[in-house]
Amino acid sequence: MDFAELEAVEGLRWPWHSWPPTPSAAEALVVPTAVLCTPLHPTAPDLLPILPYPPLRCASRSCAATLNPFSRVNHASARWSCSFCGATANPYPRHLSPDAIPAELFPTHSSVEYTLPPDPSEAGGGPPAIVFVIDAATDGDGLAALKAEVLRVVQGLPESVRVALVTFAASVWVHDLGFEGCARVVVFNGERELESDKIQQLLGVRHSRYSKLAALKATEMQRFLLPVSECEFSITSAIEDLTSMSACPRGHRPLRATGAAISTAIALLEGCCSSNSGGRIIVFTSGPTTVGPGLVVETDLGKAIRSHRDIFNGNVPLIEKAQDFYKKVAKRLTDNALVLDLLACSLDQVGAAELSNWLYRVNEFMWII
Ligand SMILES: [Zn+2]
Repeated sequence: MDFAELEAVEGLRWPWHSWPPTPSAAEALVVPTAVLCTPLHPTAPDLLPILPYPPLRCASRSCAATLNPFSRVNHASARWSCSFCGATANPYPRHLSPDAIPAELFPTHSSVEYTLPPDPSEAGGGPPAIVFVIDAATDGDGLAALKAEVLRVVQGLPESVRVALVTFAASVWVHDLGFEGCARVVVFNGERELESDKIQQLLGVRHSRYSKLAALKATEMQRFLLPVSECEFSITSAIEDLTSMSACPRGHRPLRATGAAISTAIALLEGCCSSNSGGRIIVFTSGPTTVGPGLVVETDLGKAIRSHRDIFNGNVPLIEKAQDFYKKVAKRLTDNALVLDLLACSLDQVGAAELSNWLYRVNEFMWII
């Protein structure tokens, strides 16, 4: 099977199709090992097996790789050795005889899908929650393409998934997806760094983590995070009605309150989700933060955005304050089991150095295309 055929089956694209055999070979790679995954890729069950049990993981805490065709199994000692970290004492279930090896050991199954049984410890967390955070200061063509893709993603989500929509430019708009009759948004000033409690209070989603009754009441009242089945029309309309706000005075950058938008999205999930349900925030942006918390560069085009050389030389007066802000963001994310992805589909700089604190701390995605 060639690489293109394999990609059509697995929905995965790799910069390298072989694993570096030694640490020095890994260090010598110019392009790092990575994988691009296609979400919602249609699977072919005959080619890509779906396994109804959890993966067998390497016992090494720092590794946790799964059993795969490159793992060596010793049936006599009921142990398997990890091809990633070299750990050899991983227990192998004795009932799996050499005649009944699991599908993930087949050489042809370099990728498999697992259907995990429900985890009792996660019961009561509610369905997954996703907040789409869209940069309305994107230029018209870019925003039109982005809207089409986000709509496609929303339409492909299971009906039980809860979704919310936050858009931003100079201000931050939280869309009330449960309001009937007309579009309703709650607007926040993009220049201000509000406490999470204050944002939740203004949205009416604040609940006490110590009172189940209060949490229930807040969940019933809030209309910003709703299952797709209940708000597909309103979120679709809100995305379709988004217009570009990239217009700005000559010699200035568009106003873009990315930091305030991210903080608002986190506050929304903090207020609407229980601490064990988690949630995902997906930020789509096309330029640097030019207003409010996490400021990367001022709007005046006469003041150039910092370069790599400036960062290396410590000649970046704004970066310290921005990184302090994103440290707080990272803590809120980890405290609430939230994931924040940043998709910056732009040739312009977006301020990745300022934004990246949460990335190192909580292993999120930052895709700059
Ligand atoms: Zn391992």
